[in-house]
Amino acid sequence: MAHTPVLLANAEVKDEYLVAGMRMLKNGAHAGDVAEFVARAVEDDPEEHTVGYGGFPNVLGEVELDASFMDGTTLQAGAVAALKGFRHPISIAREVMRRLPHVMLVGEGAARFAREIGAEPREMLSPEARRAWEEQVAAMMGEAPDTIALTWHVWRRTRGHDTMNVIVRDVHGNLCTAVSTSGIAWKYPGRVGDSPLIGAGNYCDSRYGAATCMGLGEAAMRIAAAAQVVTLLRLGWSLVAAGVEVTRQMAALLGRSRAEQPMRVADWVRVLIMDAQGNVGAFATRADLCYKVLTAEAETPITQRAMCVSKD
Ligand code: ASP
Repeated sequence: MAHTPVLLANAEVKDEYLVAGMRMLKNGAHAGDVAEFVARAVEDDPEEHTVGYGGFPNVLGEVELDASFMDGTTLQAGAVAALKGFRHPISIAREVMRRLPHVMLVGEGAARFAREIGAEPREMLSPEARRAWEEQVAAMMGEAPDTIALTWHVWRRTRGHDTMNVIVRDVHGNLCTAVSTSGIAWKYPGRVGDSPLIGAGNYCDSRYGAATCMGLGEAAMRIAAAAQVVTLLRLGWSLVAAGVEVTRQMAALLGRSRAEQPMRVADWVRVLIMDAQGNVGAFATRADLCYKVLTAEAETPITQRAMCVSKD
């Protein structure tokens, strides 16, 4: 039986990438190939300052990339974290899944693997991102005794953060997810967010649904947000009930107390969800966050506002 193909992404993903992805789906492409295709397009986009080329660097001025890929039909997954110097982290993540008996590689090991498979190297720091780092971080270096102090010093100057999230359903009913990010701007070197962590920022099971997160990764990690959503769907919760429940748990972590200072800075999260039937929804702790959905009948994606959820 043919299923209706659907593409769900964060609103920052350009329409043209989603339209091209839908064309592939209509021609019978596998959800995984389309998810990777969309993620690669965003990784190459220099206007996107939080994913791939042009992403803001860590506090030392180095771009460190996180990405994960999950196949909801086989439950296979691949991820890379704190990867430096390669053009397409999402493809390297997918190759980890295909070529190794592992799920995740980090740092030097991820770079070694990327070289071994012939992934394309690239200087990922764009001139614009370098300029922003020089103005906002490098200029402060003399004021901080060490990297820990420097990270705290520039934490409130964060240029924000964002992630590429795409969830794809193909004509066979397979769900696949791809998540790619340069993480939070000016992060401590080696900091890994939720995006490459299967279960935190990305989870996918074609039988029940898929969820991906963006925003402050520390909140998604602390409640295993994506896996929780899919578990709730498995237990029979509606998409809306699952989205509200998990977002509320994260909202409660954001700005909880003075002692939780890190959670009060870049303090928002957004979850994208698609269920096994291709119904979609998005939930966020801010009222102005949107997502895009493209169905087979539509010519262009529709942009919709995520449902805003507070902690109470
Ligand atoms: N979730 C990502 C991280 O924490 C960044 C983001 O989506 O804004 O690394």
